[in-house]
Amino acid sequence: MRLPIAIEDNERDFDDWRWQSRHATTDLMGLEKALRLTDDERRGAERALAGGFPIAITPYYLSLIDPDDPACPIRLQVVPSAREGIEVPGDLRDPLGEESHEVAPELVQRYPDRALLLASDRCAVYCRFCTRSRMVGDGGGARSLKKLTPALDYLKAHPEIRDVIVSGGDPMVMGTNRLRAILMALAEIPHLNTVRLATRAPVTIPQRVTEELVDAIKDAHPAIFVMTHFNHPKEITDASRLACRRLVNAGLPVMNQSVLLRGVNDQAEILETLFRGLVGLKVRPYYLLQADPVRGTGHLRTPLSVGVRIMERLQGRMSGIALPKFIVDTPHGRGKVPVGPKTIVSHEDGRTQLLTFRGEIVEYVDPPTTSHPGEA
Ligand code: SF4
Repeated sequence: MRLPIAIEDNERDFDDWRWQSRHATTDLMGLEKALRLTDDERRGAERALAGGFPIAITPYYLSLIDPDDPACPIRLQVVPSAREGIEVPGDLRDPLGEESHEVAPELVQRYPDRALLLASDRCAVYCRFCTRSRMVGDGGGARSLKKLTPALDYLKAHPEIRDVIVSGGDPMVMGTNRLRAILMALAEIPHLNTVRLATRAPVTIPQRVTEELVDAIKDAHPAIFVMTHFNHPKEITDASRLACRRLVNAGLPVMNQSVLLRGVNDQAEILETLFRGLVGLKVRPYYLLQADPVRGTGHLRTPLSVGVRIMERLQGRMSGIALPKFIVDTPHGRGKVPVGPKTIVSHEDGRTQLLTFRGEIVEYVDPPTTSHPGEA
């Protein structure tokens, strides 16, 4: 692994997640040392540091960046651009309407049966396209159990909620004991069937996924799913493979949500390589998300038709276990909508014409509606 100039002397600490966290690049001088910045990036960093969305890039994630290529797909995800200061039509500060769906402090409910617990505002790396850039990195840190008590009380009082997503920020970069305590508090709520731990740690600070962490979380709740966030095949490295292997070997299902990003992964071949790589690690590609219209991210978003075309290309070319659903999380918190290639050509009198991935039209005939035994 190539190390950026700034960290060569500290190679021996590279595998320590706390060292990674402490040595994250958070300022312009650090960026200038490691990368040949463009004027646009320099102005973007100055803007971010003057009160915009903060910068943090772990030495590990920095080491994946091509220091000479401003179009590097890793770099585009974490190095600010001056275009973050440009608002385009459709941009929103809180695209998913999470603030208007807050049912208790740090708890958002947008669907009848699930809720989102914002357990921390901290991440190892701040992604420039983050849906929660309005609050991530705001300095509050990991929330204590005391601070989460109203949220936990709300969950206890609402048996219709069956699934909680623990997110933030990145809950995996908080201390192990605190994370385990949150998961165990959720485990005491009997109607919570599943808990999803949403984290980019396997991608941005895979050193965090230690045996000790995995041991602490694997049985903290009977049904924990780890939802991770790989966006590009370059993010699949020996270190991130090891992190995923530790989670999978501990019996934790690992699912991946990728965000479709202009210049990063907006080509079928790139996503095919990513999805095949993930399945090979037993990480299930679950969603490909249209990037949310977060204020200042217009330069990173693609038209919806790009995602549809990519799914058309991948459909039939990849097995179902490797192919995620393409999802638009509709603005203002109206919910997720799966979007796909148009496959129903016509439907009439129980006969449906379907368009296959080869472009052939095939007729499917419904069974008679009175086919149950005893029916006339
Ligand atoms: S790790 Fe997740 S929450 Fe944190 S900045 Fe990136 S996308 Fe946002």
